[in-house]
Amino acid sequence: MDCLFCRIIKKEIPAKTVYDDEEILAFEDINPQAPVHVLVIPKKHISTSLDIREGDNELIGRLFQVANKLARDRGVAEKGFRLVVNCNREAGQTVFHLHLHILAGRVMHWPPG
Ligand code: 5GP
Ligand code: ZN
Repeated sequence: MDCLFCRIIKKEIPAKTVYDDEEILAFEDINPQAPVHVLVIPKKHISTSLDIREGDNELIGRLFQVANKLARDRGVAEKGFRLVVNCNREAGQTVFHLHLHILAGRVMHWPPG
């Protein structure tokens, strides 16, 4: 399977890692859309949010906990930050390995584009 984020996990492709544990990796987005733009991913390959299984519930909870920790560490937790999961093409998903975008450091608009 040729998955870009699996290759980042295997360190075949470099990334600016900001968090790393047995189950979860977080790194800076290569094309940041805000002053803070971090991607938080499970090391287990899950293609889209539609592919989350019941056995993944704890992992998904931890994904959010790591995102919260990073938001606090970056000092944006109180001001505000946006967590985004794009699912499938019309939503703008381009990498088919589940990832949580953390976006912060500027005012976010709604509705999103
Ligand atoms: P999606 O569009 O699937 O929700 O988000 C994929 C994200 O991955 C995009 O924000 C894109 O900039 C980022 N991205 C794509 N390729 C790379 C890469 O090689 N390294 C890093 N760090 N981010 C990437
Ligand atoms: Zn993958």
